Amino acid sequence: CGIIGILGQTVVVDRLLEGLSRLEYRGYDSAGVAVLTNNGPAMRRSVGKLTSLRDEVARYPLEGKVGIGHTRWATHGAPTQVNAHPHRSGQVSVVHNGIIENYAEIRAELEADGWVFQSETDTEVVASQCDQFLHQGDEPQDAVRKTLRKLEGAYALSFLFDGAPDQMIVARLGSPLVIGYGPAAADGSFELFVGSDAVALAPFTSQISYLEDGDMAVLSPGRVLIEDENGMEVVREITEIHTED
Ligand code: GLU
Repeated sequence: CGIIGILGQTVVVDRLLEGLSRLEYRGYDSAGVAVLTNNGPAMRRSVGKLTSLRDEVARYPLEGKVGIGHTRWATHGAPTQVNAHPHRSGQVSVVHNGIIENYAEIRAELEADGWVFQSETDTEVVASQCDQFLHQGDEPQDAVRKTLRKLEGAYALSFLFDGAPDQMIVARLGSPLVIGYGPAAADGSFELFVGSDAVALAPFTSQISYLEDGDMAVLSPGRVLIEDENGMEVVREITEIHTED
């Protein structure tokens, strides 16, 4: 029910958890985070309150300067650890808010092609479909674009790809998603954030742009490329937002 993502310059897990705590008001039944490190991907997921996820992360710490986090309000599949986000397939990790209406159909196609599913969620088909396009030779950006074209329903999505720890790809249709631009460091570089709302990003930045329905954005260090539903490159104005803190 809430998404956070950070393309950072320092270890991100504490900030992912902080962002998730600011999304608690939306309600949730489970939560999880995934990060990419130079040694590969790692993920922690937990049923119930964020404190259980925090305990899990305290027991099994996570390195990594890029990561995604999720609070889940189950729509497809019971609130269990296996159904909690992030979901992974092959090289792809994803978090999702919303509902993929045609997931059963996509899942059946993928199963016929040999894909094996771990969870009962509608979300896992997004990871697996994207994974299939990667196997067919697509770059992550094309794999996501083609995956989005197959999806019916509502989504805010954030993807990470193993082996690309300096990239995050996000998209929205019918569920909100914002991009946050961190303050510039001495060398001009800056961190990038995504979230279900600006409040989740308030501790990190007040420079926000709102994605529009059908948008897909590719985030890499110091760079955000946004394309609209027609695949045309667009600019989404950055505004300074003021929250309570
Ligand atoms: N439909 C997805 C699920 O049940 C996402 C739910 C949400 O928005 O939290 O896992």
